[in-house]
Amino acid sequence: MKITLLAHTPDPERTAAAAARQCYSKFSATKAYVELSEEDIRRLLRKIISSGHLSVLEHASFTFVVDGISRACSHQLVRHRIASYSQQSQRYVKFDELEFVIPHSISDDEESRRMFLEGLEGCKETYRKLLAKGIPAEDARYILPQASPTKIVVTMNARALLNFFELRCCLSAQWEIRRVAEEMLSLVRSVAPTIFEGAGPFCVSRRICPEKKYDCPKWVELYKKGSTQ
Ligand SMILES: Cc1cc2nc3c(=O)[nH]c(=O)nc-3n(C[C@H](O)[C@H](O)[C@H](O)COP(=O)(O)OP(=O)(O)OC[C@H]3O[C@@H](n4cnc5c(N)ncnc54)[C@H](O)[C@@H]3O)c2cc1C
Repeated sequence: MKITLLAHTPDPERTAAAAARQCYSKFSATKAYVELSEEDIRRLLRKIISSGHLSVLEHASFTFVVDGISRACSHQLVRHRIASYSQQSQRYVKFDELEFVIPHSISDDEESRRMFLEGLEGCKETYRKLLAKGIPAEDARYILPQASPTKIVVTMNARALLNFFELRCCLSAQWEIRRVAEEMLSLVRSVAPTIFEGAGPFCVSRRICPEKKYDCPKWVELYKKGSTQ
């Protein structure tokens, strides 16, 4: 899996802070955008985040390239509706050399790994034979498993990302989408550190645990130190 931050709103924190200032100022946000100091920006953003005035964060958006996740994972990802997606098509792209995603629980156990690879080999072989017979890729793909790799471009605004991290950085989320979320969080923190300083699963962002996983205090500590990857 490889996650890249392809693009983002230029100066995302200044943009969101200028939008926040607009709500309370008789002057144009263009003035605030130029005049706000770094300290003003941090103070304004912390205030709007703690007061839940999160709509101003929608003015900052981030575009990621997510390469090499499974179709099982991308299916979970696209359930997040407040986002834009462009995914590699199995209708138009033929998969000649498929590199399947294999969960550790399977790859670490010799017998499970062998069974899994045998199954995958069967799918690949049938896929190739169907294509060779002239079956269109859009129909041949029905034999492909959820382990099939995909590439997807994702754009989310900062507010949608905070929600995404609460749900998908949580230990209750599956390992693969959790890795996607953790890497995305690390990338956006590098360009918008104040917006995302308190981001993470609910236990970090809100000090609550809707999943009732109170048995993982270690995870919380590790998460706060940024050493969970
Ligand atoms: C651990 C875990 C297990 C899951 N298990 C399942 C499962 O078994 N089956 C399943 O189907 N899904 C499952 N999901 C997916 C989950 O139900 C959500 O669809 C997914 O996490 C997207 O969350 P969201 O709706 O908050 O995000 P988004 O779609 O990005 O929406 C963000 C926010 O916008 C608002 N919003 C968006 N659309 C609407 C709307 N139409 N009406 C009102 N408000 C809206 C809501 O406040 C929402 O929280 C699971 C998710 C997690 C994290």
